[in-house]
Amino acid sequence: MQIETLTWAKCQASPGCIGAAFGDDETCLEHADPNAAHAILAENPQDAMSSLMRGVTIDSDLLGRVLGALASGGECAVVADFSASTFTSAVRFSGVTFMTGSSFRGATLCQAADFRNAVFEGRTDFQRADFQQGADFSGATFDSASFTSATFGGEDTPSSSTARFDGTLFRDYGGFDHVRFFSGAKFTGGCSFRGVGSFRGARFEQEADFDSADMVPRLGAPDRGYLAPLVTSFDDAVFKAVAVFAGVMFAAASFRRTLFLGETSFDSAQTLDAFHGRARSSLAFEAASLGKVSFQEARFASVRFDDCDFERDCELNQTVFDQAVFARCRFSQSLTAGRQTFTVSADFSNCEVAGPFRLDCDISGDLAVTETTLRDRIDWNLKCKALRLTGSRLLEGGFVNLRADECALRECDIPKPLVISGPSDGSRLPLVTSLQRSNVPGLTLSEVSLVSCLFGGAIGLDKLKLDGAHRLASPTNRWHAKRGVLAEEHAWRHGRRNSWNLPDGVGKASSSSPRPTELAEIYRSLRRGREGAGDEPGAADFYYGEMEMRRIQARPRWTIWSKTQRLRGNTKTPKRASTGESAILSLYWLLSGYGLRAWRAFAVLTTILAIAVVLIGFQGLSRTNTVIVGESSGLALIDQQRLLVVTSVTRGRDALIPRLSSATTAVLEASLLRTTSVGLSPFGRAVALLIKVAGPLLLGLGLLAVRGRAKR
Ligand SMILES: [Zn+2]
Repeated sequence: MQIETLTWAKCQASPGCIGAAFGDDETCLEHADPNAAHAILAENPQDAMSSLMRGVTIDSDLLGRVLGALASGGECAVVADFSASTFTSAVRFSGVTFMTGSSFRGATLCQAADFRNAVFEGRTDFQRADFQQGADFSGATFDSASFTSATFGGEDTPSSSTARFDGTLFRDYGGFDHVRFFSGAKFTGGCSFRGVGSFRGARFEQEADFDSADMVPRLGAPDRGYLAPLVTSFDDAVFKAVAVFAGVMFAAASFRRTLFLGETSFDSAQTLDAFHGRARSSLAFEAASLGKVSFQEARFASVRFDDCDFERDCELNQTVFDQAVFARCRFSQSLTAGRQTFTVSADFSNCEVAGPFRLDCDISGDLAVTETTLRDRIDWNLKCKALRLTGSRLLEGGFVNLRADECALRECDIPKPLVISGPSDGSRLPLVTSLQRSNVPGLTLSEVSLVSCLFGGAIGLDKLKLDGAHRLASPTNRWHAKRGVLAEEHAWRHGRRNSWNLPDGVGKASSSSPRPTELAEIYRSLRRGREGAGDEPGAADFYYGEMEMRRIQARPRWTIWSKTQRLRGNTKTPKRASTGESAILSLYWLLSGYGLRAWRAFAVLTTILAIAVVLIGFQGLSRTNTVIVGESSGLALIDQQRLLVVTSVTRGRDALIPRLSSATTAVLEASLLRTTSVGLSPFGRAVALLIKVAGPLLLGLGLLAVRGRAKR
């Protein structure tokens, strides 16, 4: 203790002595006449304890007389003040009761200090005390004790000079801020911090043992007038060797910037399920550095690891963290979490995991692994509400067996094979909500729903693999062809015409939603992927979508551009397609559904043939070879194998059936590319020619579509 800060009158006997002076000689108890010292201790021991021991060098003799001056029960009724005293012999205060407070501030205890079962009532001050050979406070009881900046042991002391707080009770406050424990520190045997425990900036050079310590503040205790937050703090503490927090009961504790350099155990440690009905009790590790750390059978209601470094394998197999946040953490090696590890939610945002990441979890809430870099393979078996992988880089891929409501894959980077597979037992498929702006050449999706999945800006869709069931939404309107439609097409069409309904879960288009050109590109990529996988029906679905988008894009601009885009304030005009392309695509769509709808080709063919029959029947038959087969026939002549009938009745109802019959013959012959055996007028020949062209074309389109369907 610095001499300038001393508040008492110093001993005049020796220039270096800081002992409190008394009497006319102004000397301290050490330098005073032995008889005078003896007399004052005998005469007024309370005075001696409260003011005359300060700064005094106390040997075994003086200490013996001081202790002898205590009441018979070892009780000290005054504030015992040993500030800056130096105890040259072993100190034994075991069983002493300091009834109104005590101070050993800046004291030096050269030999072992024994405070076992001592009772420290009121304020106890051991700030900057130097316990050179350790101290034993086992079984002691403190109301409020501060050991700030005290030192236990020295760099060259034997490791037996332990700081021992075995079964010690701190009722209101146990402050060990910036304490240096050169040898072991033991806060074991049910050591209890019922108020606030604080170890800010403490340094544990050897083993720190908090085995089964109780760090739950009791708010129910009588009001003792402190306002400190009820958090046990190990902020900025350094554990250089083994740290044991096994079996510790925490309410709220913080380990900010704490360094755990040796093996650390939180095995069987717990937090309360609820903390005085307020917030959930929690542990906060912020910017902490953890070496080999174990949480076996630990159970924490809520735990946060922000900006932490896990230097070794992080194994959470037999751990329960109801809610866990690992934000911006760095895992230098593997990360493993078992079935019960995260029961409510887990968040691994902005982390970096260098080693394999294994999860086998059943989470009632969400698992967020967003903006995180996973450098090694992942192997996840997950049941959760939602899996969020937004912005993450899964560089080595892996396997995810997923039972979840939804899975977000926006802005992900998945260069290597990664399989995300939903349940195959018929239960609800996980909904993949987004692949927007992701790089997905390595991704395989299996047994998932893509009903509301957004694909805008995704890269590598042509290498995206879709295995098993992968559901897309069909058009909700009855009149539209059944096919898989991307959510973005739904949204875009809905934006143009409210008659196009949105399926459940599909949101409306926004200003950044893809337009037909981009949609065609997305469909094309997806189609190529399906073709590559030999999935013809899947490819056909995407092909239909692709052609739809191309057809719509090729339409004259005013129908789609000016109405919707200008409303959105978009002044950029798209590349204008030629009207020729538009016409061809429209015909292709109308006549055969892009070669995918056989019935459409056959329906059109049938319609055309029927119209042709009517046209030829009424206008296309040559007058001279009108065939009448009926009762009114008159003269009949045979001419060139044809039955020529000249009759007075060439028109009228009676002639209708024979006419149509002839027309049908003519149309069928024409459609089969044969020369017509029925005499036709120039108009009839024109119609027949048209049939000769259109018939085979539509038949071909129809057969093509049938072939496509047969391959499914
Ligand atoms: Zn002196």
